[in-house]
Amino acid sequence: MAKSVIIIGGGIIGLCTAYYLQKEGHKVTVIDKSDYSSGASYVNAGFITPSHIISLAAPGMINKGIKWMLNSESPFYVKPRLDLDFLKWAWYFKKASTQKK
Ligand SMILES: Cc1cc2nc3c(=O)[nH]c(=O)nc-3n(C[C@H](O)[C@H](O)[C@H](O)COP(=O)(O)OP(=O)(O)OC[C@H]3O[C@@H](n4cnc5c(N)ncnc54)[C@H](O)[C@@H]3O)c2cc1C
Repeated sequence: MAKSVIIIGGGIIGLCTAYYLQKEGHKVTVIDKSDYSSGASYVNAGFITPSHIISLAAPGMINKGIKWMLNSESPFYVKPRLDLDFLKWAWYFKKASTQKK
């Protein structure tokens, strides 16, 4: 029997849920508090992949990351520069890269 469903949140999870419920014949309404320009699904540019469920900030990533940053062919190349915001980000990333976290 078709049901009326309200989904709160129009990120990838809400929209996928809406899509499949609608496909099954339910009447779906998606409500979002924003204009869809602030959720995680928006800022990650729509890229959802199972390989990224393991957090990037893991022990050993700093050494790997530094090597990658200097290699323009790597997935993490960052043009070397003295940028305070970037150095702050790198410091917080390093602090988060612990076994416990
Ligand atoms: C910078 C960044 C990079 C990422 N990169 C990757 C990646 O490479 N691969 C990958 O798989 N994942 C990545 N992720 C994670 C992935 O984006 C999230 O896990 C996923 O988008 C979460 O989707 P969601 O629908 O649960 O949440 P969201 O996309 O955050 O959607 C939640 C929605 O609910 C709305 N909302 C919240 N509260 C309310 C309320 N009270 N009432 C109404 N609406 C509300 C918000 O406005 C928002 O639109 C990344 C995340 C970030 C931030």
